[in-house]
Amino acid sequence: MLQIIIAIKQVPETSNVKMDEVTGTMIREGVESIINPLDLYAIEAGIQLKEKYGAKVTAITMGPPSAVKALREAIAMGCDDGILLSGNEFAGSDTRATSYVLAEAIKKIKAYDLILTGERATDGDTGQVGPGIASFLGLSLSTYTSKIIEIKSKYIIVERLIEEGYETLKMPLPALLTVVKEINYPRLPTLKGKQKAKKIMIPIWSKKNMRLKQSELGLNGSPTRVVKIDHPKVIRKGTILKVSDEKTLDEAVNKMIKFIQKKELI
Ligand SMILES: Cc1cc2nc3c(=O)[nH]c(=O)nc-3n(C[C@H](O)[C@H](O)[C@H](O)COP(=O)(O)OP(=O)(O)OC[C@H]3O[C@@H](n4cnc5c(N)ncnc54)[C@H](O)[C@@H]3O)c2cc1C
Repeated sequence: MLQIIIAIKQVPETSNVKMDEVTGTMIREGVESIINPLDLYAIEAGIQLKEKYGAKVTAITMGPPSAVKALREAIAMGCDDGILLSGNEFAGSDTRATSYVLAEAIKKIKAYDLILTGERATDGDTGQVGPGIASFLGLSLSTYTSKIIEIKSKYIIVERLIEEGYETLKMPLPALLTVVKEINYPRLPTLKGKQKAKKIMIPIWSKKNMRLKQSELGLNGSPTRVVKIDHPKVIRKGTILKVSDEKTLDEAVNKMIKFIQKKELI
């Protein structure tokens, strides 16, 4: 049976996230959290594979204790179980430290054929964690995966988005795929799923349960430094063309065409 692991991240529901200007980290307190919307596609892809081939699907997240809610939601959608990676020693992790801890947890799970992640998290927005995990584990990687064509015991065939169209890859298993929206339509949790998710025991792994190097964790293991935070200034200067009759309408349309041509937009 296929063993699938889905890395999901809990993110603030609002896009109006505040930053601590001194530490350069996000202020998460007091903000409602949800599963990163783009991770729902990874969850759906895992569940569809389970329905097609038979699989055990495990959702995994690194976050504060409250991130257990995200795992329960993933189980309510159809994942079999969840693992929470949580501990003070993980605080301040950048994408490298996050990828390291997730990769070590996956090593501890031992049996895995396929790891799925979202394309990017809507808060950090780097898209680095999926490739980071693949790199720590030495796995074949497909980013921007738009279709899973076939899985056999030793390989997977996928289609991925590239600038000019699509590319088909045949990769040895185990592999890691970061998926894009195009791959599916995520389902809603079922009542049966919700009941299961409410009761299920979700283990919490911290430094105590994993073989982790202290130097790779939290701020110590995070080479990224936020040196400055800037708020983008929106300077939009629109032009409104007033139209009162056929003549002014013609003039307005001509002006717009000239403007578009001048800007070489057409
Ligand atoms: C200096 C520094 C300090 C930071 N300190 C903190 C902190 O204290 N607390 C904190 O929460 N964040 C912190 N961050 C942010 C944190 O590094 C990122 O949010 C995290 O590494 C994920 O990166 P991303 O959001 O860009 O995810 P992406 O790389 O955009 O995510 C891609 C995919 O990877 C998977 N994924 C991403 N993150 C996780 C996760 N945690 N668990 C499971 N799967 C995941 C998901 O499938 C997601 O769709 C810090 C960042 C920096 C630069």
